[in-house]
Amino acid sequence: MNPTWTRKGSRPKRGARSKAPVVRRAPQASECFGAATARERTRIDTEGIAPLRARLGHAGDAKPPARSAGCGRRGVKPQPAFSLIEVLVVVAIIALLISLLLPSFARARAQARSVQCASNLRQIVTAMSAYSHDYADRFPIAQYVDEQHREFVAWDTITPWSGERRARAGLIWEFADGGEVQQCPVYEGPNLSLGDPFTGYNYNTTYIGRGQNEGPFHGMDESPAMTAQLRSPAGTALCGDGGYRAGANKFMRAPLDEGVSEGTVHAGAQAFRHAKGTRVGFGDGHAAAKLQPFRKPGALPENEALLNWPANGFLSGDDRLYSRG
Ligand SMILES: [Zn+2]
Repeated sequence: MNPTWTRKGSRPKRGARSKAPVVRRAPQASECFGAATARERTRIDTEGIAPLRARLGHAGDAKPPARSAGCGRRGVKPQPAFSLIEVLVVVAIIALLISLLLPSFARARAQARSVQCASNLRQIVTAMSAYSHDYADRFPIAQYVDEQHREFVAWDTITPWSGERRARAGLIWEFADGGEVQQCPVYEGPNLSLGDPFTGYNYNTTYIGRGQNEGPFHGMDESPAMTAQLRSPAGTALCGDGGYRAGANKFMRAPLDEGVSEGTVHAGAQAFRHAKGTRVGFGDGHAAAKLQPFRKPGALPENEALLNWPANGFLSGDDRLYSRG
């Protein structure tokens, strides 16, 4: 009978089980007793193992000594699955792949943060628009201190003037909870107001929000602008990434604003902290990136140091993107 598991010249179909039993050749007794002499192995093959067991003193009904599976190759050291060279090559390949992929991961993470920042700014512009609908089409005022000097009221947060420094939602969040929407995902510096949990964005204080001691005609017109006064909403910046050397700044001031001091003007400049510039929310509700920071004409070096130029700058060299169009 053919001991193989198929007929010669034919192969079983895939998935079909062969009816022929698998026949494995039993090892010769002499192959499993490597310690026996050549003469003894010959006798074992011809006479069987019983005479040898009798010479060695084993009882006839005793079980044969246990042996390892197969032929039990004594003295053969088991080989490891991988050699040291193979393991080192695999480790080197993995390290190379990680070094190639890490920059891609960093770029993807920065891009995701920029997208999140733009989304935040669009929601802030939407909240400002909703506010104007309820307040005679006027934008929220940028900031003021109430008459009793109890609170510092701003467009994004309201902070107690003294006592417990816990900020609460500002003017634009009268009907909603802005929360983390007011946090630029890249900004990690200190807050402008104590107790303000979220920060990083500014508001066009010079031409839109104005406020107490604010506006291009310092102190003469502190009322916020009306939506109808934006001749070019798509070209007028309402809010964006704010900051200066000392940290956050929530008031965006135009470079030619004559109503405030040089240092304050620079402090209200734009922070170019994203990999591709700064993010800006415009009057028509869209958000866009501005890549190139501008310098204030005739800026003094000490004011540029306060501004942290060129990490921070202006959206334009003049007031074109800040004014109402
Ligand atoms: Zn941002």
